Amino acid sequence: MSTAVLRLKRGHDRARVHPWIFKGDVADVSDRVEPGGIVSVVDPGGRFVGRGLFNPRPGLCCRLLTWTDEAIDAGFWRRRLGAAYAGRAARSGAARLVWSEADALAGLVVDRYGPVAVLQTVTLGMARRRVELAAALRETIGDVAVFCADDPTAAALEGFEPAAGWLDAPGPTSVIVEEGAARFLVRVGGGHKTGLYLDQADNRQRVAMLAAGRAVLDVFAYTAGFACHALLAGATSAICVESSKDALAGAVDNLALNGVAARAEVRDANAFDELRRLDRAGARFGLVVLDPPPFARGRGALEGALRGYKEINLRAIRLLEPGGALATFSCSHHVSDDAFEAMVRDAASDAGTRLRVLAPLTQSADHPVLLTVPETRYLKGLLLERM
Ligand code: SAH
Repeated sequence: MSTAVLRLKRGHDRARVHPWIFKGDVADVSDRVEPGGIVSVVDPGGRFVGRGLFNPRPGLCCRLLTWTDEAIDAGFWRRRLGAAYAGRAARSGAARLVWSEADALAGLVVDRYGPVAVLQTVTLGMARRRVELAAALRETIGDVAVFCADDPTAAALEGFEPAAGWLDAPGPTSVIVEEGAARFLVRVGGGHKTGLYLDQADNRQRVAMLAAGRAVLDVFAYTAGFACHALLAGATSAICVESSKDALAGAVDNLALNGVAARAEVRDANAFDELRRLDRAGARFGLVVLDPPPFARGRGALEGALRGYKEINLRAIRLLEPGGALATFSCSHHVSDDAFEAMVRDAASDAGTRLRVLAPLTQSADHPVLLTVPETRYLKGLLLERM
């Protein structure tokens, strides 16, 4: 077992409940530790706090993996992956199997698409252990093809080469997965995220329950996930608005795959412009979905982001027929629940429309949230009904 030790400064004991240790929290680190290596974290009195992976390069220099005095070895990865997998047993087709801190595997994200597992390493320590992690994963879930899809921004911060490709034996380049009543074509290594926005899987099915007999507008549609579910649930028509060429092609494929293309229209347009155009044209919908990309990537961009969110929400609210429903989202971690709700309230007030909250919405259950790690929760939404 590694004997490298990281000692915390007095009064810097957030690490007892939160896995992140910043350089400013550290009194000293023994010189034996290598970048990406394992350290035992101790409090100023030398008492064991936890054990994690260390990287001297970024400000966030250590992420704890355990608060128990146990070895981080092959058996450890198997136990952790087994626990994460057990929590997702009910999800067969596509699912997030590992959600980093929320599964006590800080720095690792694993998404499964049938016979393919997409591995995303966020820290140097995890990146160095790709082969070991994949072996433990295969022991846990069976023989899957492993595709590596690291986030280049995180890799640059941590100082490792982002992997993009099959770890060893190549797998299928595209996979068809089931999500409730719908089927989606996933191009492995193509598209956004690891293939699908898995965090919206539960919401796509929840929102579709309101779709029967209604005209649907799916804005920021990506590969038409919400529209496919809504049309399968009996929506009379759906317009998908999206600006990325690859996503548009994926939307066309998915609508055909689900046998609903005849009731759907895919529009290559900027969502801001298209919402304005539809509003001017006096269009009305029974169900509108607004699922924009994160407008606020940092705290500083918050004000501008809220203006952007408000503009699209105002337009969307104006497009609702009486009794119509709006599912509106923000996936910006920096936009709080309160700020999000206040923004939608402002938009409703400007539109002169009263809205009833049918349900608050959040990320799918396979993206669990740790109360003590607020960073694990980022997706917020409201399902609203026009009075
Ligand atoms: N609702 C989708 C996920 C949407 S992610 C699903 O359930 O799968 C946000 C999408 O918005 C991305 O596909 C991105 O390409 C698209 N997008 C970003 N900016 C846009 C804009 N200004 N106009 C239209 N689409 C945009």
